[in-house]
Amino acid sequence: MSRPIYLDHNATTPIFPEVVDAMRDCWERRYANPASQHEFGRQARRTLEAARDRIGELLGAGDDDCVLFTSGGTESNNLAIRSLLQRSAACHHPSARPAHLIISAVEHQSITALADELQHQGHDVEKIPVDAHGVIRANALPHLLRPNTAFVAAILGQNETGVLQPVAELAAICATRGMPLHTDATQVAGKLPVNFRDLGATTMTVAAHKFHGPVGIGALIYRDDIELQPQLFGGFQQAGLRPGTESVALAVGMCRALDFGSRLIEMREHTMRLQERAAQICELRDRFERAILLGWPDARVIGAEVERLPQTSNIAFVGLDRQALFMALDQAGVACSTGSACASGSSEISPVLIAMGCSEAVLESALRFSLGVTTTAADIDEAARRILHCCTKLRQAK
Ligand code: PLP
Repeated sequence: MSRPIYLDHNATTPIFPEVVDAMRDCWERRYANPASQHEFGRQARRTLEAARDRIGELLGAGDDDCVLFTSGGTESNNLAIRSLLQRSAACHHPSARPAHLIISAVEHQSITALADELQHQGHDVEKIPVDAHGVIRANALPHLLRPNTAFVAAILGQNETGVLQPVAELAAICATRGMPLHTDATQVAGKLPVNFRDLGATTMTVAAHKFHGPVGIGALIYRDDIELQPQLFGGFQQAGLRPGTESVALAVGMCRALDFGSRLIEMREHTMRLQERAAQICELRDRFERAILLGWPDARVIGAEVERLPQTSNIAFVGLDRQALFMALDQAGVACSTGSACASGSSEISPVLIAMGCSEAVLESALRFSLGVTTTAADIDEAARRILHCCTKLRQAK
């Protein structure tokens, strides 16, 4: 079996060793329940709150904004959407049920599945269309807004195509109508600078396992004028908004991963290092795409003409079947994805690519490759070689 090459970092990333060290230290020394009132508990609480503050700072939360720890992206998205819906029903339109919700046509499943459920319950869901490159059409939003629109949800960086979205522009349109906007920044945080305040969002989702932190923790950043609607009931932790004992180690791990595995560098340096890292990954991504296009001229890189996340490459191997290619690559030791993480390995056609109006040939042949901090030029060259080899073999077998 040849050396395995992992190109599925948008699904999840390997944890940084420094993050593991920091978490082990927490488990060994800060094991107390942060809600306990003795000194052990107080120390754990201070460690937890320091991590919370630093995460907020690194993601551009202002003094009035809040950081709530959750289990990850799915929970944060659900909590935000349900809270914004409830807020609209309770505060603004007591008799206005059903509510009207707007989501973009390229949201992650943790938003679309919830929107489907809300629609099933009688709410009215509309989607902002995207153009052929996968960019949300911001100019379509004003025509969709209604007096009873509860909120708008727009992803910041699309998980399948990597296409970056005009969230600040959408938030500005919402602001003129006093409407909240939720953004899912799960794929962007830790890869490009993200500033909650500058985006003008009301709520924002992030998840640690997408940026070399631990699986099992994420956060919802939100403005303090938003009243969150708890989905769990129990203790008083996190002001009762998300009760249950907080994991100090996971919070520290998330913070440390955002902080490049080191400690408290200046914000300006932090941004510079993030940009440097993004530029390096982008260079590898471009090298990868050049190699594929050279060896398989029929290939098409989706979203190549617009701004994309540095690590994401969605390529249609026109003429081949993506499921067959995925399996051949798995055999050849190259891990990639046929769609979003949740759909990995399944043969479901991507709703995101459908929304972009991609042809049948593209829909049937697109695979997502996603790089990470640990990806090397040697990985890229070898992966491209194996991919081209598998493509040739599949074509010959036809
Ligand atoms: N949002 C986006 C954009 C994602 O890519 C993912 C994971 O693939 C999620 C949300 C869900 O995050 P989690 O798996 O942490 O629940």
